[in-house]
Amino acid sequence: MAIIAAERELEVYENMGARFDVAANKLGIDPGFQKVLRTPNKEITLYIPVMMDNGAIEVFVGYRVQHSIVRGPGKGGIRFSPAVTLDEVRALASWMTWKCAVVNIPFGGAKGGVICDPEKLSRRELEAITRRYTAELLADIGPERDVPAPDLGTNEQVMAWVMDTYSMHVRHTSTAIVTGKPLDLGGSRGRREATGRGVLIVTDQALRKLGRERTDQRVIIQGFGNVGSVAAELLYEAGYKIVGVADIHGGIYNPKGIDVSKLITHFLEGHTVAGFRGAEAVDKQEILFTDCDILIPAAIENQITSRNADKIKASVIVEAANGPTTALADDILEEKGIYVVPDILANAGGVTVSYFEWVQDRQGYFWSEALVNERLEHLMVESFTDVSAYAERHKVSLRIAAYMLAIDRVAFALKLRGLYA
Ligand code: NAD
Repeated sequence: MAIIAAERELEVYENMGARFDVAANKLGIDPGFQKVLRTPNKEITLYIPVMMDNGAIEVFVGYRVQHSIVRGPGKGGIRFSPAVTLDEVRALASWMTWKCAVVNIPFGGAKGGVICDPEKLSRRELEAITRRYTAELLADIGPERDVPAPDLGTNEQVMAWVMDTYSMHVRHTSTAIVTGKPLDLGGSRGRREATGRGVLIVTDQALRKLGRERTDQRVIIQGFGNVGSVAAELLYEAGYKIVGVADIHGGIYNPKGIDVSKLITHFLEGHTVAGFRGAEAVDKQEILFTDCDILIPAAIENQITSRNADKIKASVIVEAANGPTTALADDILEEKGIYVVPDILANAGGVTVSYFEWVQDRQGYFWSEALVNERLEHLMVESFTDVSAYAERHKVSLRIAAYMLAIDRVAFALKLRGLYA
């Protein structure tokens, strides 16, 4: 059972730490080692002056946290959002460490963020923030140091600006400095879809474990961005019945099933799922408690908490978002017998193909989409099997098993390196 004070339930870094403590104690890891594994390696705060389109000068606050470089360079996205905090970036950086270790790829964990609202910024303002943020981090990022990627509020274009800024300074084109780039700049085939595809793969694995068929399964997805929309499309094509979807503007529900290809056309026109004719309107949070078999939170943190977990109707939760469930909610979901595929496993498809992108950039040799997808499937199935076996052996939830497997791998590497000497 994770220990966390009720009034601190929504503090994401505490939530990471609460699960870490349970897993590390179960593994019997020495307290000194636990301190090293839990604490970030480096935290950088940046102040980013930008001239806005109206001529006024604004100063934005940005962060980069490198949680661990024990198993390889730091790896993790850059988030542009008004809600970014150092604590959140710290939590996200730590999750990256455990995620990379769960899927056994040679990266540590890092994350970055800038407090800004990309929806209210012009393209030029966004570019200015991105370039100055990157320039300030030149000494700390690099293909062998720390490799950023997209996250909430950032995309391929932002990654192209990061790559260009870094390349200008090192005076050669460095494609392996970021992942999630456009294909024409050394991006990988299949990267855009990778997190959603990974969600499909682990959902299939969960059903196999539970002895269920895809076609009987009614799915609700909260979030229709990069991850949620691709997951919806791939699950729909694979035969799952998508009955509910929500984004920041509202939700939609149809117990008979939603035609996702029509929903995508509607979304491309209005940039929201709200108002789709083939379903009734539902509140964007209430969608989580609406009748379904599989719930996929694919939006933001802290959606399933001790205050609402008992209302969940799904019997399976696949965490496509990072940190959608609080540590206090874990126990309620477990008591209800809900099968939870945890974020550090469920959404690891993105970083796995980011790893493939980094390998291809360094090779200068690019793989077909079929090869990327085949290797992604292989790694995700293997990781699901490893975590599932760990859970059965140690009689713990998949979440604690994923943390245990990851911490065990990082601790082993730490011991080999003697990084504390
Ligand atoms: P995105 O910005 O493309 O999409 C986010 C979606 O969530 C949007 O549809 C937005 O409208 C919706 N949303 C935001 N707040 C909401 C709310 N309160 N209620 C309902 N919907 C809301 O971001 P993304 O890249 O799809 O990332 C989504 C989640 O997945 C994040 O937690 C991110 O950290 C995680 N993740 C992303 C990747 C990736 O490859 N992009 C990889 C791993 C994990």
